[in-house]
Amino acid sequence: MAVRHVLVVNAGSSSLKFMLFDMANEQMLAKGQVERIGIGNSLFSYTNAAFSEKQSPCEAPDHTAAVQLVCNALIDPAKGACLKSLDEIDAVGHRVVHGGERFSGSVIVTPEVVDALTAMIPLAPLHNPAGLQGIAGCEKVLANAKHVAVFDTAFHQTMPEESYLYGLPKELHEKLGVRKYGFHGTSHKFVTQRAAEVLGKPLDEVNLVTCHLGNGSSITAVKGGKCWDTSMGMTPLAGVMMGTRSGDIDPAVVLYLLKNGYTAEQVDALMNKQGGVLALGGTGSSDMRDLCSAIVDGSEAAKTAMARLVHSYAMYVGGYVALLGHVDAIILTGGIGENSWETREAFLKAISGLGITFDAELNRKVRGVEATLSLADSKIPVIVLPTNEELMIARETFALLA
Ligand code: ADP
Repeated sequence: MAVRHVLVVNAGSSSLKFMLFDMANEQMLAKGQVERIGIGNSLFSYTNAAFSEKQSPCEAPDHTAAVQLVCNALIDPAKGACLKSLDEIDAVGHRVVHGGERFSGSVIVTPEVVDALTAMIPLAPLHNPAGLQGIAGCEKVLANAKHVAVFDTAFHQTMPEESYLYGLPKELHEKLGVRKYGFHGTSHKFVTQRAAEVLGKPLDEVNLVTCHLGNGSSITAVKGGKCWDTSMGMTPLAGVMMGTRSGDIDPAVVLYLLKNGYTAEQVDALMNKQGGVLALGGTGSSDMRDLCSAIVDGSEAAKTAMARLVHSYAMYVGGYVALLGHVDAIILTGGIGENSWETREAFLKAISGLGITFDAELNRKVRGVEATLSLADSKIPVIVLPTNEELMIARETFALLA
């Protein structure tokens, strides 16, 4: 089957983001999102080369209706008709958060795959149901297309036992799947492939520390082009501090709070939604732009939050450099890694003990573009590489069907 047009779908519980790619030249033809699915006052945003509309009211009672809206827009002459007919969509690449231990790569969606993902819902109760709704909606509206599931966890399935096992009785792993899985795999894979190109090295010889820093953040040790260890865990809560997530804490804090009258739901909210930069920064926001403005205004809380944030990054980078021995490059990506020069500056200062030096002037200018920030005498090169998870999903989909 010749695949040309690939629709990439990222379904959340009440949102559906999409991008349409022409894989003949990897050009993005259209993108947008449906928001507030199933909760009323739904909104549709859509952009292509000839047309743009932002958050216009629409009817999206469920994910199937949202997919129908997207498809109608793609062929609508009043909206620049990217496609003549929906039959031109050869394949849909679905972002799925959790593939558990079963999926170490992308797969064509079959009833068995849907059953396996349904069985995995307890591992990702917030994310996988939405992924399944997105798949079901697309299968209804685009029945002639092939559907491919691309997992956030798949890239990390190459981790050895010493990386993924927790120091807990083995039956918890065997019976309940309690282990490290890791997330943001599509992004870590994308920048790993790009780093190999930029460094001019074969993929299977490249050692990296890839830092995906955004609202959610994770840092990965890449050995010979494959994931060796990563900072997130069984869930995306573990690892470095994040916008609203605590990252690593003493697990006994959870027990302490439960024994002191907090409910499981409250502890969950404290760590996932009320933690991190939001908790420490004193700005009422989890956004790094607000934190950086507060630092300029002299806020001590904001300074402490930044220091704590980059301290947590540095701990992982230091550990992974120690494990890898030789590191070809430290890669910075994600909304913060690509754009927040203040955070990059604080981070690179925090790892200066590794012999890292960088061009502070250049760092201030780099926003959303590839750039080598390190100086020639830096022990490890530091490179900003913008990620593109949607293109990676389109590539995975294309490669699997080709
Ligand atoms: P998500 O994990 O939701 O995909 P992103 O990767 O978009 O998050 O990252 C969001 C973070 O990136 C926010 O903290 C935001 O402040 C930061 N960010 C995005 N753009 C900029 C910018 N131009 N300058 C500084 N920080 C930015």
